[in-house]
Amino acid sequence: MATRRPMVAANWKMAGSLQLAEELIQKFSRLPDISPDVVLCPPSVYLDNIQSKLEAKASSLMGKNLTLGGQNLSHQEFGAYTGEISGTMLKEFGCKYVIIGHSERRRMYGETSDMVAEKFAMAQRCGLTPILCVGESLAAREANRTFEVLSGELDAVLDKCGIVAFDNAVLAYEPIWAIGTGKSATPEQAQEVHAFLRQRLSDLSPYEGEKIRILYGGSVKSSNAAELFNQPDVDGGLVGGASLNASEFVTLCRIA
Ligand code: PGA
Repeated sequence: MATRRPMVAANWKMAGSLQLAEELIQKFSRLPDISPDVVLCPPSVYLDNIQSKLEAKASSLMGKNLTLGGQNLSHQEFGAYTGEISGTMLKEFGCKYVIIGHSERRRMYGETSDMVAEKFAMAQRCGLTPILCVGESLAAREANRTFEVLSGELDAVLDKCGIVAFDNAVLAYEPIWAIGTGKSATPEQAQEVHAFLRQRLSDLSPYEGEKIRILYGGSVKSSNAAELFNQPDVDGGLVGGASLNASEFVTLCRIA
């Protein structure tokens, strides 16, 4: 069985501050080495400043695997797209990853699965690793349509980019009903879906299925992280609310 390095990604959404970044970096620099890859995804206007802070602390951050990610990118490379940010720009400001297809973007900004697939391809073209989010609504879960919804979201990207594209990608299962609600999926629910997603990729390529990291997101906090992260197919977390508290987030990273 492949050993997958755990990952914890902080999705600040439209929250957080430079002060929070400072606190987090201070805490990480005082920490002993930790095992997971840690990805901070702040609002993009903070990236430049946070990148400089990380560089200034580079020696004490060695062994912490702390990197930056974007929360979104344009499906276009450059040009007249007011308000948009390109993958190349994210890359220029130190990002290694970018969150794609978060349910808030799908629902509030009308991102279709086809657009998500385009963004996934664009991220890779720009040298970024996409963190592809998929997740079902409460209504879909109650109607026993969870796997159907997830397959649809995953297949849109597979159809456009192919299974080989998953060699350089991270998947995040984020049930919409668990995001920001305080009501996490149970470890069993998370494991069931993660195993399903992995199997779907394994059916196309056993190598990619085994290799890909699948994060769980939705009300992860220090009190439930251990049992979620201990599931065999859960490789870490995509954390919203709890990433806005430096001590809590560092605790989560130590658990992973
Ligand atoms: P939450 O958000 O941890 O606040 O539930 C997770 C996410 O939306 O990525």
